[in-house]
Amino acid sequence: MRVVFLGTGSSLGTPMIGCTCVVCRSDDPHDKRLRASLYVESRSERILIDPGPDFRAQCLHHGITQIDTFLITHPHRDHIGGLDDTRAVYYAMDKRPLQFYAEDFTLEGIFKYYDYLFPREGNSHYHGAPQARFQHIEAFRSFATMKNKVIPLRGWHGSMPVTGFRIGRLIYLTDVKEVPAETAAFITPDDVLVLGALQQQPHAIHFNLDEALAFVEQTRPAQTFLTHIGHRMGKQADLEAQLPANVRPAYDGLVIEI
Ligand SMILES: [Zn+2]
Ligand SMILES: [Zn+2]
Repeated sequence: MRVVFLGTGSSLGTPMIGCTCVVCRSDDPHDKRLRASLYVESRSERILIDPGPDFRAQCLHHGITQIDTFLITHPHRDHIGGLDDTRAVYYAMDKRPLQFYAEDFTLEGIFKYYDYLFPREGNSHYHGAPQARFQHIEAFRSFATMKNKVIPLRGWHGSMPVTGFRIGRLIYLTDVKEVPAETAAFITPDDVLVLGALQQQPHAIHFNLDEALAFVEQTRPAQTFLTHIGHRMGKQADLEAQLPANVRPAYDGLVIEI
């Protein structure tokens, strides 16, 4: 399976508009982070997790035109802000209906924010609206996409639930502040974990670095890549030097084979 980190940034991206901190002013390309999103190619299926506000730029940059399956973690705008741009994928795929998989709390958000495009019932009258299928998934109930088995996992993003995903040996878990034992039990020593870690300082609804590292200690996956990294985490080079060998900070454009 080929995994491409399309974006590894926090909700406002790095550099952040108006910020003059050393990270936002850095000329190291590894310090430039679009909003968090992951592209996975497995068994000839093209999967995209979270079409955020940088979705268009990310697809253009990586030459992505075909997406068979969209998985969505939660309805915050930095994770669904690119839904309007999925129209282009619909056209590029000869108007094959788009396939979205999400839990009910996420689908509610999508129907609310994108009602002109994806009305809860019936078809959109918006010019060029894509046909879309929204599949209701539930935490810990595995489901089959076109070619893969996916297990949705539960995390907590403050009081909001968030969906993690296991695809083969890959586990994607971001925007978590708490992870129940039931989810932790799914992580094995063979797995590659992509884990959200926002910053060095504690945060109300995100793991900070210490919490992410404690979770890695607890669950012991083979390898962990940190994502959803904010500018307050520090520069990539400093972060790399600070982490144990089995934990790497991801960066935009990183490609891994699992
Ligand atoms: Zn987020
Ligand atoms: Zn969020």
